[in-house]
Amino acid sequence: MNSTSHRTGGPAGAMRAWFTEPFDYRWMADFLNSRPAGKLIRWVMACLTLNYGVLAMVSLFSADASRSPVAVAWKACLVVSVVAVSAAWITRPFPGRLGVVAFAVFADLGTASSLLINPLVDALLTCALFAMIGTFCTFCVSPRWLVAHLMFAVACTVVAAAATYSSGGVDTASVIFRTNVVLLAIAGVPLVSHLLITLLTDDARSSFLDPLTGLLNRRGLDAAIGDVWPRGREKDRCSAAVMIDIDRFKSVNDLYGHEEGDAVIRRVADRLRAHMGQYGVIGRTGGEEYVAVVSTSRLHIDALVHGVRRALRDPEDTVAVTVSVGAAIVLADSPAWAENTDIDLVTRATRVADSMMYEAKAAGGNRIATTEL
Ligand code: GH3
Ligand code: MG
Ligand code: MG
Repeated sequence: MNSTSHRTGGPAGAMRAWFTEPFDYRWMADFLNSRPAGKLIRWVMACLTLNYGVLAMVSLFSADASRSPVAVAWKACLVVSVVAVSAAWITRPFPGRLGVVAFAVFADLGTASSLLINPLVDALLTCALFAMIGTFCTFCVSPRWLVAHLMFAVACTVVAAAATYSSGGVDTASVIFRTNVVLLAIAGVPLVSHLLITLLTDDARSSFLDPLTGLLNRRGLDAAIGDVWPRGREKDRCSAAVMIDIDRFKSVNDLYGHEEGDAVIRRVADRLRAHMGQYGVIGRTGGEEYVAVVSTSRLHIDALVHGVRRALRDPEDTVAVTVSVGAAIVLADSPAWAENTDIDLVTRATRVADSMMYEAKAAGGNRIATTEL
């Protein structure tokens, strides 16, 4: 989401931004699959899903339950599919877009179908099950799918309320009371939660980013390097800290103005991202200073570091700048891995890369200095 979208255009603009925001399904799946808590969540999902099957079985024994062959066969189908889906939650990784949407649709249709065969007296209570699905949708599907689920759940509840009312067994005030309670639980809670989560994750995400370039800031870098740095320990690989500083940048501001200076800072950031982004993380840690923490094969690292100057050059630039680059490379077989914790080693590498960059600068700038740790 655009980091300022919820602050512009008033509540209607914020609502539009929330509704049209693309949902990062891949990120959610990767994030949960890479964390031990992801497995716990899959077990919780399996248990909750299985409970839907238990409910379907128990309802068969209710005094008013339909025992027609169709109702019994349908319940049996529900129980079998619920067991299969529960097993999938346990045995398979957290699903991507297709999987989570399919699960929500399966749960919605299963719940709605049981409304048709459960005793009418339980209909409104059965609708409360949509609250569980709504909670899942709050975290795991896009706002559009959440709204689709909510509309479906509300429609089912209204139909269940109308059927309960016309059966004549419950007085009007009670039907209104029960319907309202169910609607609050199934629609109000997921909707408010989703809005809050969107707002919080948007702010949390932007607190890790440099607003001028969209690169990570120091805090974002600290949070992100843990995923990149240790990959350098693997066979035939390495990790490196790379410092990049624009040469004589003050004169860009002096000659062309601060705005043009900002444009140069953004352009350098974009080109660094294009050149190195896929190999690690990049941050802007000072005015015209960038840090990249990358991990790649030992055969590739020299080309990656030495390619920085070329990647930043474009003969068409009206304001051309050069950079000084310092890099500290730690090969997989370096004893430094055993001598330091990962966090100490990356801190050390960054400090060394910084002094290498100053060596390059002292030698006249527009050059690269590297060393191995
Ligand atoms: P050197 O070659 O030694 O690196 O010199 P330099 O001029 O690049 O570095 P110095 O640290 O002397 O000056 C950096 C300048 O960057 C000073 C400051 O005004 C400018 N600057 C810092 N942040 C920003 C920013 O966000 N936008 C713009 N336009 N300028 C900035
Ligand atoms: Mg500079
Ligand atoms: Mg500087």
